[in-house]
Amino acid sequence: MNIKTPLEEKLIAEIAQDGPISVEQFMGRCLGDPLYGYYMGKDPFGRGGDFITAPEVSQMFGEAIGVWLATAWQMMGSPKKVHLIELGPGRGTLMADMLRAANVLPEFVEAIEVHMVDMSPALRKVQGETLKGVALDVHWHQRFEQVPAGPSLIVANEFFDALAVRQIVRAEGGWFERMVGVDDAGELCLMLADKPVANAEVPGWAREAEVGAVAEISPQRQAMAEQIGKHITKHGGAGLIIDYGHALSFAGDTFQAVYRHKFVDVLHRPGQSDLTSHVDFQELAKGFEDGGAAVHGPRTQQAFLIAMGLREREAVLKKKAPARTRIMLSKQANRLVSDKEMGHLFKVIAVTDASLGTPHPFGDPTHD
Ligand code: SAH
Repeated sequence: MNIKTPLEEKLIAEIAQDGPISVEQFMGRCLGDPLYGYYMGKDPFGRGGDFITAPEVSQMFGEAIGVWLATAWQMMGSPKKVHLIELGPGRGTLMADMLRAANVLPEFVEAIEVHMVDMSPALRKVQGETLKGVALDVHWHQRFEQVPAGPSLIVANEFFDALAVRQIVRAEGGWFERMVGVDDAGELCLMLADKPVANAEVPGWAREAEVGAVAEISPQRQAMAEQIGKHITKHGGAGLIIDYGHALSFAGDTFQAVYRHKFVDVLHRPGQSDLTSHVDFQELAKGFEDGGAAVHGPRTQQAFLIAMGLREREAVLKKKAPARTRIMLSKQANRLVSDKEMGHLFKVIAVTDASLGTPHPFGDPTHD
């Protein structure tokens, strides 16, 4: 028998007493349990951690986004004050890189008030360290609702994939919620709920699926998107959402766990492995639109970064660099945009207040 994690012990005891919990509840607890949740106690990023995100791959990622934000601010009519809000900023690397790139437009930097939204006390601390040298006002919040009113630019990289997802499974007799229970050996196991979910809960795009099909729906993501849509509609501004996922809804199981850079079973080391699922951008777009905002894209990360001048920036950085650094810069840029790495799986959408118009590079009607 494996040695259990503290959260695993706690969940097994709770389930023994109160019965199975949904995959959605399980994911929420594994990531956000105040004591043992994955993000709560430690810094999971980088070589020593479990996974590496785009801003940790290269400064070129954040710089491209900084340039996008400067342009969006101009589209907004260059307001004297703007909240630059980042959701789930991890180590704070993206914010630092965006702000540095924003210096191309000093009036923009002068207008910025930074708002970092993160539920993790440990990561808020790391972010504080990363942004120590920043001369702007930086405020921290646990939840998006706490960000004050005002024209806003919002950025979220690999944030939505970390919000909990429900799974419903097609079986004989209907669609059933996937649950986490405890088996006869006393171990956590996946199972289905006793009773089917109501028909109205089954998304239209999954109705015809065969027995065994899995549909993922995320009330948390939808609520978050709607809230952002409302904020932008009310106060003006724009947002940029980057994540891995699919442009169109489909039935499929994308719930996954990563532990030390390897995919593992979703029940492996609860609270110590990273649980995510792919973002359904079609559904997410509806959330923003429900909040009144306009959605542009998705474009692939490849198309977005290349249109934002990634290759030109790479060339500039290489100019003064020694040979070894030049090789590293090529590797970093390729990792961000190549088909087999992050280029196609990762998508980018822009969310704007409906009066803003279509920001670059979302006007291109061709599909990536
Ligand atoms: N954007 C960063 C980190 C991505 S990991 C990067 O690209 O490197 C997800 C981040 O979202 C973490 O900082 C985590 O603490 C935060 N997070 C996850 N769920 C959250 C929630 N419900 N509310 C606020 N922050 C959350």
